Amino acid sequence: MSFKVKNKVVIITGGSSGIGLELVKLFLTEGANVAWCGRNQAKLQSTFNELSEDYDASQMFIHSCDVLDQDQVDGFVAAVVEKFGVIDMLVNNAGQGKVADFFATDDQDWVDELKLKVFSVVNMVNATLPHLKQSDIASITNVNSLLGLKPETHMVATSVARAGLLNLSKNLANELVKENIRVNSILIGLVESGQWRRRFEERSDRSKNWKEWTATVAAKKEIPLGRLGKPQEAAYALMFLASPLSSYTTGSVIDVSGGLSKEI
Ligand code: NDP
Repeated sequence: MSFKVKNKVVIITGGSSGIGLELVKLFLTEGANVAWCGRNQAKLQSTFNELSEDYDASQMFIHSCDVLDQDQVDGFVAAVVEKFGVIDMLVNNAGQGKVADFFATDDQDWVDELKLKVFSVVNMVNATLPHLKQSDIASITNVNSLLGLKPETHMVATSVARAGLLNLSKNLANELVKENIRVNSILIGLVESGQWRRRFEERSDRSKNWKEWTATVAAKKEIPLGRLGKPQEAAYALMFLASPLSSYTTGSVIDVSGGLSKEI
């Protein structure tokens, strides 16, 4: 079975690490042309160099870009069009969560978190829309979190912002259907990637290794599948939603949380 993305063009934000990087690899394997960004140029270059060993470098394009800066986003999108000519799919993945309860969240934290979750998508959609409108397989796929439906007090601003992104995704799906652009999301629980690696490095209990520490996190969270997800497992769901394989699906979400969402 083919994902039908050979020679198509996809933009993946935050492609230099974790879920985004796994998705870059999946699209390259399927023969797509892949453009990805991140803020850190050295990290981007190192992913490019590493992937060049296994994939055709002419399929790949990197550009350093902060998705919160519309000018940088416009520059990135213009550079992708210059390189590949068209844009067929956009995957909004860049970001991170903020661990803080209500009392530890100040006004600036609220602004930063709402800005990250909403404008990382708004800016990219603004810049890519004229190009997506020209594609016959156009899709926008947003990486979102289960926190949007199932808020947690220790991540209050992230939970609120994720609920906002869920609403924005549905709104975009409803509005862009007339342009033949599908909009979908994944809701992830806990996925082993950059965020969890950083929390692991900062852990107070230094006696546990990565495997033991993540197992403890999974047990504490009572994840039914008993472990954190792998970045590739989130990327598979993104691949399905972004590709024409899900051509009759828009305004939808796939839960990739290991069963953490127990409610209907
Ligand atoms: P990683 O930290 O591994 O990767 C994040 C990527 O986003 C990096 O490439 C980073 O590159 C890039 N990035 C971050 N901020 C920006 C920005 N402002 N502009 C451009 N690029 C940016 O994280 P994950 O793979 O875990 O996360 C991917 C997405 O999944 C994020 O949106 C995250 O919030 C979400 N998520 C993850 C969960 C998890 O358990 N892992 C849980 C719920 C949601 P650079 O730093 O160089 O900019």
